Amino acid sequence: MLKKYVFYIIRWQCSTPILALCMYYMNFNITIKTIVANFIGALIFFWVDRYIFKNNVYYPLWEIQEKIKCVDCGQVSKGFRLVKTTNYDKTQDKNPEFRCEECSQNKLHELKERGIKY
Ligand SMILES: [Zn+2]
Repeated sequence: MLKKYVFYIIRWQCSTPILALCMYYMNFNITIKTIVANFIGALIFFWVDRYIFKNNVYYPLWEIQEKIKCVDCGQVSKGFRLVKTTNYDKTQDKNPEFRCEECSQNKLHELKERGIKY
């Protein structure tokens, strides 16, 4: 998050030359110059900002549902499933498996042993 914040501050500074060039070289009044500078900035920084703020999800991502039948022990309770970490992705899983709290902890332990980053 801090890295993103610093990057964003630097990105704001990148709009300075656009503003400065418009102020220096254009022959309109200052309001028109600012509007033109902001228009040019928007054309460029829309894409930069989109890049900065994409994928703004913090992992691990879990899905929790009420009253599921645990796939391991069959108990009906609140169900958990790990959806995504930095190197584990079950977002497209067609048959998502939910587990009770205890079994999901066991499954998580097993996944960690298989090398998922958590
Ligand atoms: Zn269970």
